[in-house]
Amino acid sequence: MNERDSEAVSGLLLEKGYTQTPSMDGADVILVNTCSVRDHAEQKVFGRLGHFKKLKEENPRLVIGIIGCMAQEHGGNFFKRNPEIDLVCGPGNLNQIPDLIDEIKTARVGTKARASRLAVDKLNDEYGLDNVRYRSDKTKALVTIMTGCDHRCTYCIVPYTRGDERSRRPESILREIKDLDARGFKDVMLLGQNVNSYGKGLEEKIDFAGLLEKIQEAAPGIPRLRFITSHPKDAHTRLFQAMRDLPMVCEHLHLPVQSGSDLVLRRMKREHTADWYLKQVEEYRRAAPEGTLTTDLIVGFPGETDKDFLGTMSLVEKAQFDSAFIFQYSPRPGTPAMKLRDDIPREEKARRHQALLSLQRSVGLKKNQSMIGKTVEVLFESRTRKDGARFVGRTRGYKRVVGGAGRDVTGKLLSVRITGVADETLLGEIVP
Ligand code: SF4
Repeated sequence: MNERDSEAVSGLLLEKGYTQTPSMDGADVILVNTCSVRDHAEQKVFGRLGHFKKLKEENPRLVIGIIGCMAQEHGGNFFKRNPEIDLVCGPGNLNQIPDLIDEIKTARVGTKARASRLAVDKLNDEYGLDNVRYRSDKTKALVTIMTGCDHRCTYCIVPYTRGDERSRRPESILREIKDLDARGFKDVMLLGQNVNSYGKGLEEKIDFAGLLEKIQEAAPGIPRLRFITSHPKDAHTRLFQAMRDLPMVCEHLHLPVQSGSDLVLRRMKREHTADWYLKQVEEYRRAAPEGTLTTDLIVGFPGETDKDFLGTMSLVEKAQFDSAFIFQYSPRPGTPAMKLRDDIPREEKARRHQALLSLQRSVGLKKNQSMIGKTVEVLFESRTRKDGARFVGRTRGYKRVVGGAGRDVTGKLLSVRITGVADETLLGEIVP
């Protein structure tokens, strides 16, 4: 979602007459779009601020802004900690950025005094970044359909930095997607913290499956439509039916489970059990037998026993994920889980992490090997870095494929016969 927000803010500034510079040296404005999901990402941002201080010393007219989740979380404290920062702007205020920069520049004229702006007061307002046409890619596009989250998973900072769930009006989404269709985009990813609960609070009575149906009708020229992220509690039969029935909706579901232990899930406040999750997986597989399934997992959550961990290992075997993002729990300031004792030793977290990674790798590898000999549709994205005659692309299930071609196939949808597997990548030959 940060990537799309960055595109949207870039679009607003380009419309205002700004141009992009190839590097930070020589820029008049530097905006850092931040994520606060992991403490590590925050520390990286704080680490980079020293460099900005140097740039500001060299060019006192430079406007430096921190935008996004960290801006929302830390607000005006940024100015105290790093006086070189001029602008702090939360996710709900991003459409004000061009005006805020103008205000900063105007307030500086004729004075040496600092002029800074703090904008974090629109966290729960309607999604405001409509009609932004700037795209960093020519074939794949990100489209935000909702933002914020009404769940309160105890390890997660998102509800406090992105606010409550707000759905974007369908007509605004459809306008953007029709435009993408007219411009020849081939892969559209719908974004939201919990896309499955789309529709809450809108005047029009519509759910996420209903939105997918409208998109299919309005922009049938787009061959691929995908979405991320889904909460298991809100992924319903209607969604699986839409995935089965609508040709443009790709057969890929990212459904974070986090743990295979009901006790841990309860402490995480996930609002689903392991069994319930597996039933959903069954329903999805009935609707999309060839579909791919990916997930997020956390090991070492407070109080996770060996038995709890084995429950997660067992769930991974049963669910047969194509791939998984696996994280070691680390306490995140500002989340309810900070009140729980972080009682799993670091070495034990690392051991569990390694064991789960190795299990998931072998599950994923077998699934990939089962594709050898099959012919799949691939949307090619770019040349590989190492070999200019080989191209990398994605299947409808979002598996990475590398294949050779004697011509530039970037942006093309082609049939590829899978001939081998290298770790998580499929290797293939373009079918003439
Ligand atoms: S559903 Fe996702 S975004 Fe919402 S609180 Fe839980 S982990 Fe965070």
